[in-house]
Amino acid sequence: MINVTKTFLPPLDEYQAIVSRAWETGWITNRGVLVQELEAKLKTYLGVKHIIATTNGTLPIQIAIKALALKGEIITTPFSYVATTSSIVWEACTPVFVDIHPEYLTIDDTKIEAAITPNTSAILATHVFGNPCHIEAIEAIAKKHHLKVIYDAAHCFGVSYKGQSVFNFGDVSTCSFHATKVFHTGEGGTMITNNSKLHETLFHHHNFGHDGSEAFHGIGINAKMSELQAAMGLAVLPYFDEIIRNRKAIVDQYNEGLKETNLKMLKIRTHTDWNYCYFPVIFKTEAVLIKVKEALEAQKVFTRRYFYPSLDTLPYIDVSDNKCQVSRAIASTVLCLPLYVGLNEEAIQMIINTIKKNL
Ligand SMILES: *Cc1c(COP(=O)(O)O)cnc(C)c1O
Repeated sequence: MINVTKTFLPPLDEYQAIVSRAWETGWITNRGVLVQELEAKLKTYLGVKHIIATTNGTLPIQIAIKALALKGEIITTPFSYVATTSSIVWEACTPVFVDIHPEYLTIDDTKIEAAITPNTSAILATHVFGNPCHIEAIEAIAKKHHLKVIYDAAHCFGVSYKGQSVFNFGDVSTCSFHATKVFHTGEGGTMITNNSKLHETLFHHHNFGHDGSEAFHGIGINAKMSELQAAMGLAVLPYFDEIIRNRKAIVDQYNEGLKETNLKMLKIRTHTDWNYCYFPVIFKTEAVLIKVKEALEAQKVFTRRYFYPSLDTLPYIDVSDNKCQVSRAIASTVLCLPLYVGLNEEAIQMIINTIKKNL
């Protein structure tokens, strides 16, 4: 059976050696030595100023909205995982969807200004599939209209844009370390900012607002990463460059094998060092997508419709606003092919052949 992804598991003895340090101290959460070591290593590895390890990649989005005191409307993308939209709604703000670019699949920056109203407080955009948004354009619009910018960079571990980590852009960037992501801690995530004052607020928010054990800075929630999660991250990190090389080889094989078809591939923005986190293909019609998906399933190959449905059609969203036609069209015709360390050449060739036969 071939799934769309398979978690990279480090050698068990290496995980055990690291996690045994938590046994020695008897300390398995509340920012122990392993979480602090992981944060220090990630800071260096990624080249970012501040980093806070969290227990997943969704709470950082909610905490960023809270820390920036966002109110009213937040301009966002309809083409992302549901957490991008649900975090906005959960924080009692209103998502205002702006359609996506048909090739980059990120928010269409040329349509953002038309969506700004006196109630707009921020832009929350996703570097979807690890493909950076048009960062310069978004920065200019945000500056002109005094808006905050949060990037849901859940897919972006290891992605560089113009020679630096893509996490360095926006007021806050968030990432997910979920088991299905390129770098993982089982469940986990992080939030990154270059602003030291904002970093302090994010930090307090992720730990109940504690100021020492008996005082509080303000409100907070519990988004702390545990030592068991950090141990996984510390065990996976040494393999990350190899993980990327392995994934690149798979993507190269898919691209080569599918290049003379009518499938559309993701266009990666220039000046990007990509991390090969997903391999989305866009079909001519939803009917062809379903036919190919079923043909693959008959071969025990399980793809996923990332990201379907378009988030502007969620049950708790006013669906009468149908401005996001590109997103709705892409969401109904995009399929992510299996991509993980260990997926072998024969399997990839079989997937390519099955797709070609059913186009
Ligand atoms: C995975 C993902 C998240 C949520 O991350 P979790 O770690 O699962 O909470 C948020 N946004 C996007 C775009 C994602 O793909």
